[in-house]
Amino acid sequence: MAIRVPTRQLFIGGEWREPVLKKRIPIINPATEQIVGDIPAATAEDVEIAVEAARKAFSRNKGQDWPSTSGAYRAKYLRAIAAKITERKSELGKLEVIDCGKPLDEALWDMDDVAGCFEYYADLAEGLDAKQKAPVSLPMETFKSYVLKEPLGVVALITPWNYPLLMGAWKVAPALAAGCTAILKPSELASVTCLELADVCREVGLPPGVLNILTGFGTEAGAPLASHPHVDKVAFTGSSATGSKIMTSAAQMIKPVSMELGGKSPIIVFEDVDLDKAAEWTLFGCFWTNGQICSATSRLLVHVSVIFSVLNTYQMTSQPVLYSSCFGLIFHDLKSRIELLFLKALHQSFWTGLSNGPKRLRFLILLKKVVGLAQLLVEGRQYEKVLEFIATAKSEGATILSGGDRPKHLTTGFFVEPTIITDVTTSMQIWREEVFGPVLCVKTFGTEDEAIELANDTHYGLGAAVISNDLERCDRVTKAFRAGIVWINCSQPCFCQAPWGGIKRSGFGRELGEWGLENYLSVKQVTQYI
Ligand code: NAD
Repeated sequence: MAIRVPTRQLFIGGEWREPVLKKRIPIINPATEQIVGDIPAATAEDVEIAVEAARKAFSRNKGQDWPSTSGAYRAKYLRAIAAKITERKSELGKLEVIDCGKPLDEALWDMDDVAGCFEYYADLAEGLDAKQKAPVSLPMETFKSYVLKEPLGVVALITPWNYPLLMGAWKVAPALAAGCTAILKPSELASVTCLELADVCREVGLPPGVLNILTGFGTEAGAPLASHPHVDKVAFTGSSATGSKIMTSAAQMIKPVSMELGGKSPIIVFEDVDLDKAAEWTLFGCFWTNGQICSATSRLLVHVSVIFSVLNTYQMTSQPVLYSSCFGLIFHDLKSRIELLFLKALHQSFWTGLSNGPKRLRFLILLKKVVGLAQLLVEGRQYEKVLEFIATAKSEGATILSGGDRPKHLTTGFFVEPTIITDVTTSMQIWREEVFGPVLCVKTFGTEDEAIELANDTHYGLGAAVISNDLERCDRVTKAFRAGIVWINCSQPCFCQAPWGGIKRSGFGRELGEWGLENYLSVKQVTQYI
């Protein structure tokens, strides 16, 4: 994939600007470990200049300032950005691959989602004008009251590396639609496409200072930005640890924050499932984007009896009589055997699918992505962290059913095998903490109540999935899940029209949909004596 990474500067006040301290951060291609370019490293000095530029664009003195433009006017810019992203989709997708190791087809889908997100918020910006002065009914006729929805001000948007441009779009599009001016601080590990977004904004003539993009380290650029007294709100996506630090500094100024944080999401597979579908969603839910998804359903809870249908469906040679005759034991001594067989059967089902030709093409696609293939992690530290998680799981007594290491045939690159772990107890680190890599833990359960209890036994509350043909049961389980997002008979689909966010240590506030726009609006109540 021959593509050159453009050399860019910080984007402040509509212009490229060299960082005050002239520092740069190397970009490392995770597949080759080669340096392929660099990005500017902003520091507190640059934050000052960027906040001033955003404040100037937000100032209400000149009549043509961004917050006092109509939603329809702002929508035109959002649509122009969407069109440019679509025009440059192939180039942006390839840059994303080099920068964060994403498979190209996934990166290209992300670019469609980025453009779709800008289009969607263009629609909502247009709708905002008609929603102004919504009347409030009062108990006295001598007063009338209405509500104005106004942009919150200058907002800091701090994002992670797993969906570099898409996470930026989820924040930039609604913030600009609402009439806020913004400073985007993407992750130092993957900022290349966000700097290209700056180029897109320049090309479409977005007014200076409306969107500023500062690349740099969290401590050097993110922290001074989040704590800046002239920043009115911080919208953050990243780890719970960083989210906690940002909340602490925001608390000093009673600054509003929204938090999209980590997760350790469960997927429950009941006994009445179509196994092919269950296998497909289980693997997709955990290994998509190389397992580096906040909402990855990385804890598989599978009903013990699923093993019998697996054995029937795939005619496994492993003595089904033995297993049916010791049904009682399954609940006690054979749990780990069952987990193991279930997963072996899943693998078997993929190979069967492969040999069955084009009708089972979806298996081929999944197989390419998951079974037996390495998954590429964003950078060296993350790679080491994932291998440490696996080593700790082993030392705590878990069984590595498949994967668990760097693939032998790949000598360079931050590759880890897709890993499936059984014999896990609920106190193990691998069950409790977010790995953010291609690692699936498996446990069996006997009853619906047990499944729900295991699913909710976590500090996190982002996503949760249930796979069952009994829709009444799905409904019960959905209500019982302590999570912000629930998937029924699937895992991970995400639409910019629907709200996204978590509870507990996965954060608060919602992105996407109309909820995403509300994040950047304040409500002004006006009451008139008549
Ligand atoms: P991270 O917390 O290390 O970094 C996120 C961003 O915060 C980066 O831009 C970083 O430079 C910045 N940052 C770091 N320290 C900072 C500080 N002290 N002050 C201000 N900014 C600071 O997270 P990451 O490793 O980039 O991303 C992975 C995490 O993101 C995972 O936990 C994942 O679950 C989470 N995530 C959540 C969602 C969601 O929607 N809930 C989506 C994607 C990723």
